[in-house]
Amino acid sequence: MLPSPYPPVIGDLAATTNLPVLTFVKPVNGPAANMSLLCGESGSVPGGSSSHNIFIASPLPPMKSLAIEASSSCTTNFLLVRSTLRILPCHPGMDCLSILIYHFYLRRVARFGDIAFKLTMPPRAMIVSITPELALDGSKNYAGGLGVLEGDKFYAAARLGVPYTVITLLYDRGYVEYTEQNGQLEPTEEDQSNFIKRLELFRTCWTTVGGEEVEVAFYLYRLNTATAVFVKPLRPAWAAQATERLYIERTELERFRKYIILAKAALRYIEKFIGWDRVKYVDLQEAYTALVPLLKPDPRYRLVVHTPAPWGHPTFPSRFFRQELGFDLAMNPVVLTELGLAASSEGVVVSKKMVHFAARTFPHHAHKIKAVTNAVEIPRWQHPAVADVKGPEELKAARARVKEEALRALGVRTDRPVIVWARRLTSYKRPHYMVQLIEEVNTDLFFILGGRAHPNDEYGRRIMAEFKRLAATRPNVLYIPSLYVEDMRKIIWAADIFTFTPFSGWEASGTSFMKAGINGVPSVASRDGAVVEVVRDRYNGWLFGEDRTELVSPDTPDIDEREYAEFKQKVNEALDALADGSYWEVAFNAYKTFREYYSMERLFKEYGYL
Ligand SMILES: *Cc1c(COP(=O)(O)O)cnc(C)c1O
Repeated sequence: MLPSPYPPVIGDLAATTNLPVLTFVKPVNGPAANMSLLCGESGSVPGGSSSHNIFIASPLPPMKSLAIEASSSCTTNFLLVRSTLRILPCHPGMDCLSILIYHFYLRRVARFGDIAFKLTMPPRAMIVSITPELALDGSKNYAGGLGVLEGDKFYAAARLGVPYTVITLLYDRGYVEYTEQNGQLEPTEEDQSNFIKRLELFRTCWTTVGGEEVEVAFYLYRLNTATAVFVKPLRPAWAAQATERLYIERTELERFRKYIILAKAALRYIEKFIGWDRVKYVDLQEAYTALVPLLKPDPRYRLVVHTPAPWGHPTFPSRFFRQELGFDLAMNPVVLTELGLAASSEGVVVSKKMVHFAARTFPHHAHKIKAVTNAVEIPRWQHPAVADVKGPEELKAARARVKEEALRALGVRTDRPVIVWARRLTSYKRPHYMVQLIEEVNTDLFFILGGRAHPNDEYGRRIMAEFKRLAATRPNVLYIPSLYVEDMRKIIWAADIFTFTPFSGWEASGTSFMKAGINGVPSVASRDGAVVEVVRDRYNGWLFGEDRTELVSPDTPDIDEREYAEFKQKVNEALDALADGSYWEVAFNAYKTFREYYSMERLFKEYGYL
């Protein structure tokens, strides 16, 4: 094994592609003799044929003249790496230019004549995630936490140099946006054409769904070692329509076909453009991606379950499976999480507490269920001004600047304490606590509310109307229904107290309180999800309610009322702490403990990505 020519730091890289990469390491007898090899014209290069390899000149000084000479005489397959972080494409037609690769993938060495090559991307290095939603900055391809989490993993993989491919559908009409019509918030589609313009059309391919040939396009968004693959069916029209919007379908069959398209296209992409021998894990996010292992069994699948309760796991009638795939499944309807757990080597749940619930809902899979608690990508969510504070006083000064800037960006003028509630509007998250709180507490506070409901969720729609009414009738309430990543950042940065109020037993993990905590914004939180792993009452936040390990319906009024009283008391406690200054110890403790535990570095290690 040759030592790597690159120093072991970020930036010690050549360049890569989805094709195998040959790195030119060491010319022994001068450049001219081996030029044809460098240009990729030799069929005898170990590791692949000329048309399937990309040749890269290393940036080391002895290589420079050779590399430049080669790049000007080669017509294809050649990248010249000018300096450690810059890539100069010498052939504009190539489709492999933008990804960087770090030296620790340069493991497999092959020798040819007097030239040593290293084959980059060893077998089983690529992490693949398949997900129904993905929230990259500027996109509208998500409904909430799952999409944002997947986006955070994407950015973390790019930052940490992990070879990572996330595959999702491209919803050209987004999820749902609410606009005011006759004084009411009405659901409509979203426009993400600006984001789509930033994607690169990579390839198209054909697959069969519903007995018809379907043409799908792969649009890519690449950042260092991370690639996001957006699958877009082009024709026939029913296939394009089925995937227009996230979580919105006209019929059950349309929903089934939507996820069959994702599954088949994802498998195509892995086979053709990654290669199964280079895949380490295929992580399937939530139940709808459980169709993937039905189409191609493999031990590298892991199903990541984000739904703790026994209900809420989607199903399809078994006849769909018979018609589409020729299977006679011995259950009807088919519970997708069940199918996915059975077909995967592991089931991953997203907080420690969820292990208990998953093992009770799926006791026959209990042996393969483990927890990897969710986390957030700190550089994406932390305001730079609080990136390196050393104590409560420093945090206080930095936060004052951050809050002022964020309020200005939100168009809010206030010098009162700011209390926030912002996430998807659904009943187990109990946004109604905020309606009641705003109506009961004094007006020396400012409230920022954020979040939208699924158009078919009656409870959520009702809360949206309540939030809107509060914002319209009170000068100290702001409501942002269409909560995007960009708004979420500002809202968190504007907050003094974040609230996180799920009905205990129902929250898989929750991530919004993590984003607040890494900015030194403590939460008043219920004891559920990932909260209980780090938050201690009055130390780095405020906790209320029971830590339930039995599943109780959120529609249990006496529990709801009892816990509301505790919630309100804890909000008052946090406000008192803010008034007497003891708040800043708590805030700084949240900052310290959250940055350590809820980080993508920890999550990547636990998933085996690092
Ligand atoms: C983080 C985030 C969420 C998810 O918050 P949870 O606490 O996990 O429910 C939803 N929407 C946006 C825009 C977010 O940034």
